[in-house]
Amino acid sequence: MRFSEFALTTLKEVPADAEIVSHKLMLRAGLVRRLSSGLFTWMPLGLRVLRKVENVVREEMDRAGALELLMPAVQPAELWVESGRWDKYGPLLLRMQDRHSREFCFGPTHEEVITDVARSELRSYKQLPVNYYQIQTKFRDEIRPRFGVMRSREFIMKDAYSFDIDQDGLQKSYDRMHAAYTAIFERLGLKFRVVDADSGEIGGSRSQEFHVLADSGEDAIAYCDEDHYASNVETAATSKPDVDRADATEDLEKFPTPGVKTIEDLCELLGVGAAQTVKTLVVEGTDGPVALILRGDHELNAVKAQKLAGVASPLTMADPSTIWKATGANPGSLGPVGMTLPVYFDHAVAALSDFTCGANEDGFHYKGVNFERDLPDPETVDLRNVVIGDPTPGGKGTLSIARGIEVGHIFQLGTQYSEAMNATVQASDGQNIVMEMGCYGIGITRIVGAAIEQNHDENGIVWPGPLAPFDVVLVAINMHRSDDVREAAEALYAELTEAGLDVLLDDRDARPGVKFADAELIGIPHRVVIGDRGIAKGELEYRHRRDTESRDLKREEVLNLLKESSIR
Ligand code: ATP
Ligand code: MG
Repeated sequence: MRFSEFALTTLKEVPADAEIVSHKLMLRAGLVRRLSSGLFTWMPLGLRVLRKVENVVREEMDRAGALELLMPAVQPAELWVESGRWDKYGPLLLRMQDRHSREFCFGPTHEEVITDVARSELRSYKQLPVNYYQIQTKFRDEIRPRFGVMRSREFIMKDAYSFDIDQDGLQKSYDRMHAAYTAIFERLGLKFRVVDADSGEIGGSRSQEFHVLADSGEDAIAYCDEDHYASNVETAATSKPDVDRADATEDLEKFPTPGVKTIEDLCELLGVGAAQTVKTLVVEGTDGPVALILRGDHELNAVKAQKLAGVASPLTMADPSTIWKATGANPGSLGPVGMTLPVYFDHAVAALSDFTCGANEDGFHYKGVNFERDLPDPETVDLRNVVIGDPTPGGKGTLSIARGIEVGHIFQLGTQYSEAMNATVQASDGQNIVMEMGCYGIGITRIVGAAIEQNHDENGIVWPGPLAPFDVVLVAINMHRSDDVREAAEALYAELTEAGLDVLLDDRDARPGVKFADAELIGIPHRVVIGDRGIAKGELEYRHRRDTESRDLKREEVLNLLKESSIR
């Protein structure tokens, strides 16, 4: 490709609405342009990257024996009614009507459609296992689209669905996808981790996520390599502390705390640490509000809480007027002593003695609170997020926490959809049995943003080789004034292209500084500078995007280096 014919517009200024580095660089490098909230156009340069991701994914899916198909993006409501998700899925689902007032949605995922395909196509156990996949546009009406293509509303997903005769078969299909995903992210040159995960809106039992590690990641990942443990913090379990509770040393005392609304206010007033206080959060329940009691320094885990009996899902904080009506106090003054609402205590709270909490009366707290004496010894549940240093569930180590971007998710669905939609095949004994399903997603568009989060410097993107829109950029200096440079550049361009490399020839009539800056911003791995001085010596100036210095190399050396690097 010749730069002069590529219509690429790069930006010097950092766009105001972009919060994170990948979003900024994708806009500055001209990979995408925003159409509207959560909607992006993939410009020619960006589309080259997207196609590279797709190709690696497609090759590995094919290699794993999956069969590519393409389902409609628009799906009839009846299928969603059959699976029971039409009412459950909520505002993420973009619903619409056709001219006959029939209801449809724009697919956020395709379990219903594929189950409909499978129930008509698959008749006998002899046809199984089958794994169908597609690479296709999804729409989710995200409440807060942000980070550019990483959390957009329209995005491209690779979604695959396996069908097996029994759990044993499902496990094998799942393991194959685990291996294929590992191969994909390795080939793409990304640093990633596989973690245990929550199954969310999709449902099912076992699930694992693939995370690209980056500080800007929306997810927190708890891991311990010694104990071979890794889990999304959403699902990382905590257990009862392994310590005996200390004896009470203080008397229970109610004291005025005017204006104290938060744990920080309370700690400042009393000069105690948050770990010696208890906070009470009131959430909506299926039968009226429910109180959740946590140590003051711990964070509530929504995924765990919304699975508790009597707690509404998705987790919703009760509003202050509901709380006032139910307890006679405002949030900030609540506590477990004398609490009239149904209560869940987090495990860690039960280990406290002489603690401080709200008195269920505005402007008052208790201190010196002790279990058994001031309130009954509580039953406890797992309500909080793990923190650094917590023991692993296996007990062999302690947890570290890293940030990650979820780029893939694999699930064992079991018979949830096949049962609801009656997707059966005939078994060897002639009986009809419900198929076991798995589903496997990869965020194709999100990978591009995640790769940039992990690979950039102050000058721009630093593409891992397999993702780069071009393998090499040829910067021709003064090409429009020197015939020697023009000839050398054209010959190199032809030869490298012939060798199968993706070559960008910067043939613009522009200053070298402009060309260098653009080459760095768009992140091309190899840069070769062709100028009169080098030609006279039979040399070219070579630099890898990760190098700090350029090197003068013989033409042959450059050719060999580039040809070798293209053998991936
Ligand atoms: P998240 O937790 O990030 O909202 P999810 O768990 O709802 O994602 P899945 O249903 O597991 O998403 O979808 C499979 C993959 O699709 C995800 O692993 C992610 O890479 C990608 N994906 C999901 N939502 C979006 C989005 N809004 N924008 C871009 N990619 C997305
Ligand atoms: Mg997911």
